[in-house]
Amino acid sequence: MTGISTFRKHASDVINWIIDYYKNIKAYPVKSVVKPREIFNQLPAKPPEHGEKFDTLLEDLNKIIIPGMTHWQHPDFFAYFPANTSFPSILGEMITAALGAQCMKWETSPAAAELEEMMMNWLKQMTGLPQAFHGVIQDTASTATLCAILTARESLSDFKINSEGYSGQQFRVYCSEEAHSSVEKAVKIAGIGSRNLIKIKTDAVFALIPEELEKAIKRDVESGLTPLCVVAALGTTGSTAVDPLEQISKITKKFGIWLHIDAAYAGSALILPEYRWMIKGIENADSFVFNPHKWLFINFDCSAYFVQSKEKLVHTFRLVPEYLKTSTDGEVNDYSDWGIQLGRRFRALKLWFVLRSFGIIGLQEKLRTHISLARFFADEITKTGSFKLMAPVNFGLVCFRYVPEGSMGKKELDELNERLLHEINDSGKIYLSHTRLNGEYTLRIQTNQTSVTHENVMEAIKLIEDAASGITANYE
Ligand SMILES: *Cc1c(COP(=O)(O)O)cnc(C)c1O
Repeated sequence: MTGISTFRKHASDVINWIIDYYKNIKAYPVKSVVKPREIFNQLPAKPPEHGEKFDTLLEDLNKIIIPGMTHWQHPDFFAYFPANTSFPSILGEMITAALGAQCMKWETSPAAAELEEMMMNWLKQMTGLPQAFHGVIQDTASTATLCAILTARESLSDFKINSEGYSGQQFRVYCSEEAHSSVEKAVKIAGIGSRNLIKIKTDAVFALIPEELEKAIKRDVESGLTPLCVVAALGTTGSTAVDPLEQISKITKKFGIWLHIDAAYAGSALILPEYRWMIKGIENADSFVFNPHKWLFINFDCSAYFVQSKEKLVHTFRLVPEYLKTSTDGEVNDYSDWGIQLGRRFRALKLWFVLRSFGIIGLQEKLRTHISLARFFADEITKTGSFKLMAPVNFGLVCFRYVPEGSMGKKELDELNERLLHEINDSGKIYLSHTRLNGEYTLRIQTNQTSVTHENVMEAIKLIEDAASGITANYE
């Protein structure tokens, strides 16, 4: 690995490798079938003394690594939520890697800071977020939620906990029973204690019940506890339930509580005007996060975090040791002051590449296709009566369960569905995941993969139906 001419040759080999990978992606099992340690045991235990040939490296990539990959960009990847990429995003990431810039402060790469500011402004317009909000790219929604809870804590304590540490208050944080585990992680890290995370009951469609939230807050206030933050979810991970933001925002306003919104997956749907109802009440929110790296065709990682007050955010995190002082301090956005990490990748570039390549209309068309595929799946799978829907289809996710004729108990059905999931995934043809809704084992299929088509979804339906008939035949 020395000269630029060797690099030219290897770079073109890698580009060809990438093109072939995408051309042949259907040939791979979607979910890797390797056993634990299978990859590890093929790797030399010692690093090489001397540099090796790039060709042998590529050979080993094909031989050792690829069989151990689960192919998230496979059109038959229907598990979890997607971690979408797209060709413009890949190209943007390649240039980010080539520039190899550390974008911690404005001065360390002015264009990175200014492009980030403008991309966040574009996203604000595209999603209908208030123009007064300020945006910053974080690595993940988990980090953004931690930032929100820390900023809420500092804002409420007049920035005293940062300097003095805790002095006896018992803070309370609220979210629904269906909220993502990152909320609990943030509460633990922020020193609030997971027993002070209050999980509010949800209704028939798994959305937070605002009356229950208000009751819990009142109870805590009466007991001398300090309500700190409510985390509302727009699109829960289990079933994409949408918490009633407008009602929640009235409660947080009334009690002066920080309102953070976790729209990690479904926030992308806000680029469609028909989904804007979800953010009624947003002007009373303090912070909002969504993940373009889930459903906007931007490579992981790229979480868009928006705050009402950039002063509070910066005040919570900013520290300027001598070696980081620059002549533009205070004049420009130094994004290392806007979160936890100092060093930052140039992530705005891939966003710029994708937004310009697709255009708003191109992105809208993709999302609408994905949503219609989910509805199509839901209609088809329930036709015979052997499957039932476990939650409304709000976006591009369907939660369903196999319920064959006969009189199986809940527990038996749980086992049956678990076996069905393993059977389907072990086939390597498609990959689904699961959750529990009302305690019942539930299969999840998301139809948001960048290149998913109607044919892929039809094949998935057939495969699921066949696997289900097979499994009941064995059961009897
Ligand atoms: C995926 C998801 C998260 C976690 O996202 P990361 O970016 O991986 O931290 C948080 N909340 C919800 C609702 C999610 O769906």
